[in-house]
Amino acid sequence: MEKWSDEWKRDQLNQLRTEWAGCKRCKLCETRKNVVFGEGNVSADILFIGEAPGKEEDISGTPFCGDSGNLFHGLLLATKIKLESVFITNLLGCQPPENRHPQREERDACLARVFNIIYLIDPLLIVPMGDIALKALAKGRDWAITEQQGELFSSPHPSFKIAGDQNGLEIPGLIFPKNDEAKRKHCLEYDMLPIVHPAFILKEDSFDSQTKKFESKGWAESTVLILNRIRQLIEQIHTEHENVRRHA
Ligand code: SF4
Repeated sequence: MEKWSDEWKRDQLNQLRTEWAGCKRCKLCETRKNVVFGEGNVSADILFIGEAPGKEEDISGTPFCGDSGNLFHGLLLATKIKLESVFITNLLGCQPPENRHPQREERDACLARVFNIIYLIDPLLIVPMGDIALKALAKGRDWAITEQQGELFSSPHPSFKIAGDQNGLEIPGLIFPKNDEAKRKHCLEYDMLPIVHPAFILKEDSFDSQTKKFESKGWAESTVLILNRIRQLIEQIHTEHENVRRHA
C-alpha cells in the first residue's frame, strides 16, 4: 500500500478510529454513548471542524446529523460543495453533558485526535466552525467568530503554541513522523477560513413563537456567501495546480 494513497489514508484513519473508540483520556468517556471520530473524504480539500457532538451525534456516532447537521448539509447544498468531497469532525470526540462548552482539559485531551486527522487528510483549507473551534485552532489570537468569520489566514499548527516547545510535538498520541520533515513542515502551517457554527445560525436566525415571524439576522446568508467563496477558492487552487502540471 503506497504511503499517502487514499487506501493508505483510509487504513490509517480506520486504525485511529478504532483506537479512539474506547478513549478514556478525559471524563467525558463516562457519559458518552459513542465517540464521534469524524467522517468524509480521506483526501478532502476542506476539513470542517466544529465544537463537539450533540445528542443525535452521540447516539449515532455520526458527526453533524441533528438539527444543526441538517442545516449544515443544506448550506453545503446551497453552495454546491459536495458533502462527499469534505471531511467533518469536532474538537471533541464526545458530547459534553447538557451540550455545555468543552472544558480546557477535555479539549487538550482530544487534540491529538484532531491533529492526527489534519495530518492524514492534509486538506487545502481548514474551516473552524464557531467560536470555540476558532479559538482552539488559532491559538494565541484573541478572536471572536462573529468578527473573524470569512477571514482567510494562515496559522502555524496549534501544537506549536500548545506544546510550547520548538517542534510542538509533545502531545501524547501524535503520529507525526519526526523524520518526515517535508510533510511535517507543510502540516505545521495551514490555511484557515472560519464560519459561524450552524447551531449559532439556528439560534440567531430563528422562528419567533411570540411574533410568529421568522427573524433573520442574516447569519445564514453571510455563511452561504463565505462557503461560496471557499468553493471558488478551492476551484482556483485546482486550476492553478492543473496549469502548473500542464506547463511542467
Ligand atoms: S472527548 Fe476526546 S479525549 Fe475525551 S474521552 Fe472523548 S475522545 Fe477521549
